[in-house]
Amino acid sequence: MLKSKSQMPFKDILGHTREIEIIKGAILNKRVAHAYLFSGPEGIGKKKTALALASALNCRSPQDDGDSCGSCPDCQRMERGNHANLVQVWPADKEGNRDDEAGLIRVNQIREIQNAVKYRVEGGARVVIVDSAERFMAQAANAFLKTLEEPPAGSMIILITSRSSELLPTVLSRCQRVNFRPLPSAALRSFLIDEKGLPTEEAASVTKAAGGSISAALRYLEAGADEKRKEVLMRLLAIAPGDADEAIKLAEELSKRDDIDEVLEFIKGWYRDMAVYMEGAKELVVNSDFANRFEVNDREYKELWNCFSMVEEAKRSIMPPRYANKQLTLEALFLSIAGRFH
Ligand SMILES: [Zn+2]
Repeated sequence: MLKSKSQMPFKDILGHTREIEIIKGAILNKRVAHAYLFSGPEGIGKKKTALALASALNCRSPQDDGDSCGSCPDCQRMERGNHANLVQVWPADKEGNRDDEAGLIRVNQIREIQNAVKYRVEGGARVVIVDSAERFMAQAANAFLKTLEEPPAGSMIILITSRSSELLPTVLSRCQRVNFRPLPSAALRSFLIDEKGLPTEEAASVTKAAGGSISAALRYLEAGADEKRKEVLMRLLAIAPGDADEAIKLAEELSKRDDIDEVLEFIKGWYRDMAVYMEGAKELVVNSDFANRFEVNDREYKELWNCFSMVEEAKRSIMPPRYANKQLTLEALFLSIAGRFH
């Protein structure tokens, strides 16, 4: 249900109008840099833009504005990721499996790039896209510098990073930099409503939880996190003040789940919301779909933060290295906050 439709041309990319104008201008003026660094937060469209650039340079019927057509055989091959002019590199573990978290870009991968770009390009341009470019091993980066400075004719390189401060200065200085900013909330929200069919209120809360990252928003939806958030809040709101039986029952039930840290984060979010709501910063409320349940008139601000700290403390207790008994910890927590949840 959440499979994104193909988005290869620039025109299908959400936001980043300024960055894309710069790149399309370079294509039209035949001044595409030989090496770019696309930097900016995770999951906002840097890779999509890199692929759109690769498509535009290889499309058989490019559009007047410098964009690719999205449907010719070259565009289709680009979309499937098997175009001969597309070379993709990412961090890998020692066995060569992709590992964006702990993997590295190694010397043997640099050799592969160098082999791939050695031969003349028949048509279009060869585009090397390096994901998580901050993960170059020092030797690999050194081996790569020459190629980066002067890629063979017809080839260009796009480095992508969300941590540009970790890049080696020697690598940084050889690239033309394009900085991508987080997506404006409005753009992400309308994407969730128009493309993903989310109701307005839900789209608003997912947008805030995702902090301007489209992939965070999609992950959030895919993991059913939004459903979970709603379920947890409904259950807690259903406990009447002082209803110890119900509080203990919920503690017992939740303690059996393996996503309890996530559940406690949702609960923290609730108190945080009421605190910002009280401060008049309604636009910062995450659980905006529950806003009609906020009754904060006679509530003390300090008490909200007490509840917030109790949830945080419970979370810390049951996590490593403390591993406190989950059920007992949750019972104590819910008994304390049950009457103070709403
Ligand atoms: Zn095309």
